[in-house]
Amino acid sequence: NKITIAIDGFSSTGKSTVAKQIAKHLGYVYVDSGAMYRAVTLYAMQKGLISKSDFNIEALIYQLPSINISFKFNKSLGFAEVYLNDVNVEKEIRTLEVSSFVSKVAEVSEVRQKLVEQQQKMGKDKGVVMDGRDIGTVVFPDAELKLFMTASAETRAKRRYEELVERGDAVNFEQVLKNVKERDYIDSNREDSPLIKAKDAIEVDNSNMTLKEQFDKIIQLVKM
Ligand code: C5P
Repeated sequence: NKITIAIDGFSSTGKSTVAKQIAKHLGYVYVDSGAMYRAVTLYAMQKGLISKSDFNIEALIYQLPSINISFKFNKSLGFAEVYLNDVNVEKEIRTLEVSSFVSKVAEVSEVRQKLVEQQQKMGKDKGVVMDGRDIGTVVFPDAELKLFMTASAETRAKRRYEELVERGDAVNFEQVLKNVKERDYIDSNREDSPLIKAKDAIEVDNSNMTLKEQFDKIIQLVKM
């Protein structure tokens, strides 16, 4: 019997890495809900609705119906890439610039409502591993397995920094650490669906775990 697996936690706790591994192992669908918030953010940036100095929330809400987010499985990558109005934006949504605006976009209730509805549709047949901030609390409150991933801010920033460097982005560690802490703060303090651990979620602190150890631990939990 297929189940729903909800994985929540702060930024760069390695949720997507482990979620992909678990989905592949179980033959489940992996959904990166953060990619959806990032794609809406990219749209807002492209239309000039958000910048360092201002954010035209009303215009974004008005344009929400013209924002179509979808996923297409990429065989060679082994996971689904995100598309914004039929354009593959998987790479573009991972920049530090998108990261610096995304939590502000994710504070907008109308944005959350639209994306949560789509996420619930994607998960209606179970057999889904979804990662994000509100999956176990709001999107799938009845998920059979809920995980809450944690790691120290420094460990997380180091991971994100290495990813960005690998992509060839010009960033410095301090910038990345600052962004991770800012997103932690905004994500935990917003009014609509703040990031909190669901009562029935199992906390996994992976600061000192290898990917293999983490994978084994979670597979064990799936079997329970
Ligand atoms: O998971 P990722 O770091 O890519 O998510 C980017 C941002 O999107 C988060 O910092 C958060 O502000 C927002 N988000 C959210 N709810 C989700 C997933 C992501 O608010 N379910």
